[in-house]
Amino acid sequence: MAELALLRQVHGTVVVAPAVPSGAAGGRPEGDAWAGRPEPGRLLGILTADCLPVVLVHPPSGRLAVIHAGWRGAVGGVAEAALAALGVPAGEVLAALGPAIGPCCYQVGEEVAAAVGARSPHLSPWPGAPGHCAFDLPGALRERLLTAGVRTQHIDPLAPCTHCDADRFYSHRRAAEPQRLVAFAGWRPGGRP
Ligand SMILES: [Zn+2]
Repeated sequence: MAELALLRQVHGTVVVAPAVPSGAAGGRPEGDAWAGRPEPGRLLGILTADCLPVVLVHPPSGRLAVIHAGWRGAVGGVAEAALAALGVPAGEVLAALGPAIGPCCYQVGEEVAAAVGARSPHLSPWPGAPGHCAFDLPGALRERLLTAGVRTQHIDPLAPCTHCDADRFYSHRRAAEPQRLVAFAGWRPGGRP
């Protein structure tokens, strides 16, 4: 029987170790990423609806990271923090980017553009909306992983747009739906590590 552990997400950069009690014993620990080697059968999960879920795996050690990255977390360095917490060579890490709002739909204002950096290649003018930009959150996160040493061929950049695909995904911006997507990773009971 698998157990799903979740976090109390705050758009920060705190990384939580899988050994921290959760569920009935300790509630949800506050943080925006898991990193470490979970016991088999313990699933490390995060919730999203437009924010970007990222899963990192280091096959040689069985260490995993599951990351919740909105623009604040991405700019703040939550992915780098999770990578560092894994404590393994970045060049050996496999990464997958899950469904998130894409640059096709993610209109941001000056606050976000200023935080991201006006010269970021992941910002582009939003047609007909002066002062607003389209932000490529998955693209920005992918670049941060590359800069941190993750190899291009080790990143699955699929990241379909949650806002475009109402049949498959929830989107906070499309309908302010209370539902969330769950991204999780773990090892099967009786399996690795
Ligand atoms: Zn879209």
